[in-house]
Amino acid sequence: MNPRDKRPGDRRSVPRPGRPAGAVWYVLAFVMVMALAQAWFLAPAGRQMSYSEFKSAVRGGQVAEVVVGEQAIRGTYNRDVNGSRNFNAARIEDPKLLEELDAAGVKYTGEFVSRWLPEVIGWVVPILLLFALWSFFFRRMGGAEGGVMSFARSKHRVFAEDDVKVSFADVAGVDEAEQELKEIVEFLQNPKKYTALGGRIPKGVLLVGPPGTGKTLLARAVAGEAKVPFFSLSGSEFVEMFVGVGAARVRDLFAQAEQKAPCIIFIDELDALGRARGANPMGSHEEREQTLNQLLAEMDGFDSRKAIIIMAATNRPEVLDPALLRPGRFDRQVLVDKPDVKGREEVLRIHTRQVKLSADVNLKIVAARTAGFAGADLANLVNEAALLAARKDKTAVEMRDFEEAIDRLIAGLEKRRVMSRKEREIVAYHESGHAIVATMLPDMDPVHKISIVQRGFGALGYTMQLPLEDRYLMQRGDLLNQLAVLLGGRTAEEIALGEISTGAQNDLLRATDIARSMVTEWGMSDALGAINYDGHKRNKFLDITLGPERGPYGEDTARLIDAEVKRIMSEAHNQARKILTAHRGDLESVTRRLLELEVMEGQELRALLGVPPPAAEPSPETTPLPSGIQ
Ligand code: ADP
Ligand code: MG
Ligand code: ZN
Repeated sequence: MNPRDKRPGDRRSVPRPGRPAGAVWYVLAFVMVMALAQAWFLAPAGRQMSYSEFKSAVRGGQVAEVVVGEQAIRGTYNRDVNGSRNFNAARIEDPKLLEELDAAGVKYTGEFVSRWLPEVIGWVVPILLLFALWSFFFRRMGGAEGGVMSFARSKHRVFAEDDVKVSFADVAGVDEAEQELKEIVEFLQNPKKYTALGGRIPKGVLLVGPPGTGKTLLARAVAGEAKVPFFSLSGSEFVEMFVGVGAARVRDLFAQAEQKAPCIIFIDELDALGRARGANPMGSHEEREQTLNQLLAEMDGFDSRKAIIIMAATNRPEVLDPALLRPGRFDRQVLVDKPDVKGREEVLRIHTRQVKLSADVNLKIVAARTAGFAGADLANLVNEAALLAARKDKTAVEMRDFEEAIDRLIAGLEKRRVMSRKEREIVAYHESGHAIVATMLPDMDPVHKISIVQRGFGALGYTMQLPLEDRYLMQRGDLLNQLAVLLGGRTAEEIALGEISTGAQNDLLRATDIARSMVTEWGMSDALGAINYDGHKRNKFLDITLGPERGPYGEDTARLIDAEVKRIMSEAHNQARKILTAHRGDLESVTRRLLELEVMEGQELRALLGVPPPAAEPSPETTPLPSGIQ
């Protein structure tokens, strides 16, 4: 076998957990040998006799010679007694013994006591035992073979799967993510094709999405499709109790992966490790920071021509350290969203492949009834239905079992906020409002997609516009239209339901921000003129506002600014209302269709509204990340 074959990380070299380490056996063997040696050396030789027998033998003149030891008396007869020339007897405190020996003319001596053996046993054995226990525990805490001090190595933690059986066929309902990851598969299958021209293979891909949408599954599918080894580790596994252990583990992971390139390193739950540094006021997190720094260093350091793709997954992208998202690191972000009706049906099909279904089961209906379910919830649903059917001794899973399972799961999911029918309707009107206003106003970015599939990050739905071209400048008219679009959601709720909800909070925040900037930064209010009243200094690099500091203007100006902001906002509101009232029928039909489809493409929206397609369809490859209106 090639020695490189047996490398750390191979499953073969993984020590079985729970087996006492070899050192413990050595110590036990050593103790046994010592005990035997003692028995051998110290074993009394010759005939064993009592002390009184010994005394009478002395008096009888049978004894030639004795050695008086500390605990025993060994001696020799003048002649054989009972076939033995030697004897010994346990010693008793006897002050008269020497006189008697003299009297009988017995030659006697004392004995140098050799104590090395008890000394050795008394000292060395406890030390060895301690040593053995110590190394044993270090091993259990994440160590490895080959010495106590190498406990930081990650051998049995790093989990390289050489032959991943998952493929894209096992994943459904996340077509866009799949599409993006196909490119990664190609990179891995044929890295030379891409590097031959001097290109750089992407390093980091971050899968972002709510829990249970199949992020882990997708990462494994990429490895399965590309047929490359899959190193996976969870972010929390990096964070150990010893400072430096996590960092050593990162180093180790990359060293191992580098030998197996092309391959995938997958860090699940990246947020456990990659939380923004210094974000926690409660003390320092030296260990995690060190680990994170090591990860950043490794990502920068390894040879990008070696086709190693680092994938990571998180459902909390907002807490990640910005350094992780910089170019050259996790600069590709792939959204793994909850599936829509069609996607849910496909996921159900995948998970019922091994399940005996009765003829009355209609997965389309099951999909329609499970709005808000993620892939994992659907897998769970199928399992639950099968268990219910089994409990009733059925030969196949019936529709009734699915219905019952859905009711159970929805009750369980309540905590995770699956939308009620009424809420779905509100969200559908809201998003239709955004979309219709955006489509009807001139010169707006065309609507790419409307969705009422709940997202993990608080948004209940979204309307996505894709710009046809990058914009560097916005004119006052564009901004006013933008405001009308932002307020379109809330206005639609007002018109259709006669009531408003809390769903527009983010829209209002963004709209107010724009309106205020128009007045105070861009000089777009006639009442205030072309003056920059902007007091808060924006940090250009971090995109955060530093402090609520106000500009150097007085109370009157402040009042005027507020009035102008309010005027602009209400103008935008009026415009949205005008458009939506004029298209009241369209609002209804778009909303109904959206409730049915859950996700509507821009084309279908324009067809419903009878609006011609945009001059140029934006190509997904070249457009920047869309800014979603929520
Ligand atoms: P995440 O990592 O996003 O939390 P997982 O990948 O761990 O979700 O999903 C858990 C399980 O749920 C998967 O093993 C799979 O059985 C099922 N599942 C989740 N999403 C999907 C999907 N899109 N298609 C098929 N099965 C899915
Ligand atoms: Mg996961
Ligand atoms: Zn909105």
